[in-house]
Amino acid sequence: MSEAPATRARAAIVREANAPVVVEDIELDAPGPGEVRVRVLATGVCHTDLHACMGNFGAEFPYYLGHEATGIVEAHGPDVTTPALGTTVVINWRAACGDCRFCAAGRANFCARPLVAGPRMRTLDGRPLGRVLGVGSFGTHTIVHARQAVPIAAELPPEATCLIGCGVVTGVGAVLYAAAVRPGSTVAVFGCGAVGISVIQGARLAGASRIIAVDLAPKKLDWALKFGATDVVDAREGEPSKKIRALTGTGVDYAFEAIGLPDTLNQAMWSCDLGGTCVLIGVPVPGAKLSFPGTKFFYSRATLKATFYGDCLATRDFPLLAGWYRDKRLDLDSLVTARVGLSDGEIADAFKAMERGEALRTVILMG
Ligand SMILES: [Zn+2]
Ligand SMILES: [Zn+2]
Repeated sequence: MSEAPATRARAAIVREANAPVVVEDIELDAPGPGEVRVRVLATGVCHTDLHACMGNFGAEFPYYLGHEATGIVEAHGPDVTTPALGTTVVINWRAACGDCRFCAAGRANFCARPLVAGPRMRTLDGRPLGRVLGVGSFGTHTIVHARQAVPIAAELPPEATCLIGCGVVTGVGAVLYAAAVRPGSTVAVFGCGAVGISVIQGARLAGASRIIAVDLAPKKLDWALKFGATDVVDAREGEPSKKIRALTGTGVDYAFEAIGLPDTLNQAMWSCDLGGTCVLIGVPVPGAKLSFPGTKFFYSRATLKATFYGDCLATRDFPLLAGWYRDKRLDLDSLVTARVGLSDGEIADAFKAMERGEALRTVILMG
């Protein structure tokens, strides 16, 4: 085992459900076998962090917030050789184990035992830190499994590449892998935050002929058009599925729900054409019940499926998305609507802006 002493870091912590975010010193053990310590460069504020603050993930408080990050590998656990020290990496919160029943069957996106680091981080008063999605990145340093650290081109700006690690791969992956959108097909997207915008960009990259964006917030509809939507539907102006049917004549081939609400899932389902595919991306809140008319569903011959992390494989897809970003086919820069430092006030403001629908991504820059 490594003899390295514990180190200190600064991190944004939430101590109990709905408590304010506080930035404070934490203590990190040396990385254990299979693990690396990463110095965080940039990290995106995702809706899942807000879910964690609200206690929607059970009772693992206190939480080290954050899970969408780019950083540099700066220490290895005892048996680790890759990624090499100094490598720029994007954190993958679903690192496939390689040998569970799904990995063995070539379906690693369903991995039943994703790899995470052991409990190496704690508050200065000795409480072990829960980590959002097994990461913890609103801070100067974190410890992750080496296979959660996916090398990425170091010359690309970290404030853009960090978004690949959750919101972008989730949205683009939902299009490419969960739905497998075909060129020339029609798409509707419900919810135009960072994930919904990534669905729009994925649909554009997949060659969809029509991309209809639905939201309540006019600002988000403006963003949707900028990122490649061909039509927008303001959900405050009546039942969106009717408008989508009027726009297309028959309904869309694919509908994506990027909010996690039963009502919008129903709207998404009934905006599909006969035999269409509806993909649930948004995380439902605890206790949410999904229901719809059984007869209508039967005759629609629709496919309803849920996707998680865009059904991506990070080692395949992070470099792919980074390459599309470098080639200016995928816009990550415009997703960053605010840049802040590691302070509790700025992080609280970022969550408020997200709740008001005024942000795509706020990125916290360390340093
Ligand atoms: Zn597995
Ligand atoms: Zn996320």
